[in-house]
Parts: sequence; C-alpha cells; structure tokens
Amino acid sequence: MELLGKYKLVVGMEVHVQPKTSQKMFCGCDADIWGQEPNTRTCPTCLGLPGALPVPNLEAVKKTQLLGLALGCKLNENSRFDRKHYFYPDLPKGYQISQYKKPLCENGKLLLESGNYADIERVHLEEDVAKSFHQGGKTLIDFNKSGIPLIEVVTRPCFRSVEDAVDYCKKLQVICRYLEISEADMEKGQMRLEANISIRTLEMEEKDELPPYKVEVKNINSFKFMEKAVKAEVVRQREIWESGGMPVQENRGYDEFKNVTVPQREKEEASDYRYFPEPDIPPMVFDEEYFLNLKKAVARLPQDLRKEMEEKGVAKEQSRILVEVMAREAVEKFNGLVAKGVEARKAASVLINRKDLSLLGVEEIVTRINEEGVRVSDIEEISEVVENVVGANPQAVLDYKSGRGNALQFLLGCVMRETKGRSDPHVALDLIKELINKNVK
Ligand SMILES: [Zn+2]
Repeated sequence: MELLGKYKLVVGMEVHVQPKTSQKMFCGCDADIWGQEPNTRTCPTCLGLPGALPVPNLEAVKKTQLLGLALGCKLNENSRFDRKHYFYPDLPKGYQISQYKKPLCENGKLLLESGNYADIERVHLEEDVAKSFHQGGKTLIDFNKSGIPLIEVVTRPCFRSVEDAVDYCKKLQVICRYLEISEADMEKGQMRLEANISIRTLEMEEKDELPPYKVEVKNINSFKFMEKAVKAEVVRQREIWESGGMPVQENRGYDEFKNVTVPQREKEEASDYRYFPEPDIPPMVFDEEYFLNLKKAVARLPQDLRKEMEEKGVAKEQSRILVEVMAREAVEKFNGLVAKGVEARKAASVLINRKDLSLLGVEEIVTRINEEGVRVSDIEEISEVVENVVGANPQAVLDYKSGRGNALQFLLGCVMRETKGRSDPHVALDLIKELINKNVK
C-alpha cells in the first residue's frame, strides 16, 4: 500500500452488534426503541436507580453464543457479568454491566477472502448506555438506549491490510443477518465499528513486535467510512513516525466531512475501569446439552453455503443474492428445490427473479415449474423475442444453416438488443439454435 510507505499496518477490530431481542438486557423494557419518543422505554433498572435489580435476558445470551459458535469460538461453560466503572452523564449508575474475565465466548477465527484469518479474541455481552444530546447550551439525556443489549466482538491485532479489516466486518454483518442474530443495520446503530490502528517498521513486523501504542478510532458508521478512517489515521501516524516521534495511545473519532481523525479522550487501561464481578447477577453455568442444541442452529456459515451453491453451478452473483440478501428462508427453499430435482441454476433463478413463485412453498414452486414446462424464469420472455428475431431475419437463418457461424452472433445481438441486455446470452443462444433446428425438421 502506497499510503504506508515503508511502514506496516496493524489493525484490531472491536465491533458492537445489537442482538435482536424483544426486551432490554437486564429489564423488561421494550427493546424496539428506533424512532420512539425520548425516555418512553425506561424503568428503574435501565434508569440506574438505586436498588433496582438486573435480570439477564437469556435471548441475548443465546444470540451471543450463536455468534461465538459461528466465529469458531470456544463457548465457556462458566461465564459471568462484571461491572465496568466510569463516570459519564449517559451512565448514571457509574458503571456499565459488561463481561471481563469470563466472557461467553473466546478464541475463534474467521476465514477472509484474502485467505488470511481474522483472529477472534472474545465475544461478550454488555448493556448499552443512554444517549446525550447537546442543545442550546444544555445537555439532554434519552434513556431509551440505556440497557439495550450489545454483543461485542473483539479481534486481536490481526489485520495487516484495510481490505482484510473491512472484509471481516462485512462477513460479520452477513453472519449476524443470516443467523438472525441481528439486523446489523449500521444506520440504526445496530452495528458499530471501532478500529485499533497502529503502524510499525518492517523489522518490527519480522520480529512480530507490536507497536507500543494503539489508536482507537470510534464513530465509524459505514464500511466505506471505515476504509477512509483507517487510511486517514495511517497518514497521520506516518507523519509522526517520519518526524521521529511516536503516536500516543488515545481515542479518536472520524470526521467524515473533513476526512480526518480528531482526538477524543485518552484511552483508559483496563485497570482504570476497576472491574469486579457483578454482585447482583449469579454466575452463568451452561451444560453440554444446551451447547449441543445451540450447535444445531449453526450448521453452516454463509460463506460455506455460497461455496456449495457455486459448486452446483450457481453463478457467484446469484449465490451472493440468495445467501447474503435473501438469507435463510431463500437458502432453505433453494435446498428444498434442489432436493426435489430442480437444477441448481434454475432454482436460484426462480427464487431471485420470479417474485410470483419465490413466495410459495417448495412443493408449490416445483408444481408450477412443471406446469410451465421445463423452462422457467425469464426464459419464456426470451423465447418470445427469439421467435420474433428469427422470424424477421430469414437471411441470417439461411446463413447459419449454410455454416456461417457469425450469423448466430448477429441473431444473438438482435435478441440482446430487444431485451435490453437482460437475457442470459447462453440461454438465448441455446434458444436460437433450438428454434432454427426445430424449423429444419
Ligand atoms: Zn428498563
């Protein structure tokens, strides 16, 4: 990467994902707070009033463990919540309930497009804090967000390129959606990215020596901004290194308008938080049977499913739409159709292109496909155009029959033009040949 000059990049990611639950993390308040009037989803527990007791949300615990499994983590049989202390207006009880020594999941890895692995250190569960607004010289606080569950996925400083770090975050989003852990909508704050960025010399990389600092860049709310934020931060750090200095450990925010990172408060060490076990929540103990049931829900990862589809002949773009956009239900239907003898490419095409069929059950789709004859999807439409084109160009048909190959290309060109390029040229070519040969007989 030009940007780095003689330096090497080291990035670790901290990603917060809001699991989709009906209630908040430690109380019965409605967790659906998007667009709600401020302070209408609160109770003594999530307001942090003295004496209110937290009760963990098992749905959130389970979703955290599902994500841990999908990331190849070890699930801890014993886990517990801890208090993480800090003082901030959006945290009235003076501490956040999080997990420190015994997170729900640890030590996983995720294969990236580059062939490298993301090295997952831990996946733990915590509560979100309230939200403060600054208005007319005053600070207002909305407690709706206070106590919303958050899964935090922390990697080791394992990324050596911006591309790997971004790819990791994208894969994490796909997994969350596919396993219905979270909608992971970044605009709604359901997925938030923080990148720990530092650079080092080649000699340090060869000795596997980490830089003596890391800069945590917060407030990244899209994959595009993440790429820009990391690059902007690299430029800043490189200038410091080149002038003989060493960047300091700190938190910075990304200013998307100026495309620079700006300082926030200095980063605390773990000891500053004075973690200790949450006394109001007993330790959690899970048995083997519980873990076995969870494992059944995470049979295969989205990337493995895509690979399987592609091996059956489904095009890359189609497997992407089925798995990553249409997700679970579409994949189950795809497998159902293939099991019923529908050719894989056709099954994919029907589910993606035929809105009238894709909503039906597998049995019905198969019946309809059979009723419509062997061809489905846009093939009907292409056939009609092929008939018109072949009918209107008798000379080209004669040329083809007398062995001039480019006559076929000419006819194909006409079909593609008529359908405004929407037809699959392979399908169209097959149809043209089929029609001409049929007429010969
Ligand atoms: Zn509450």
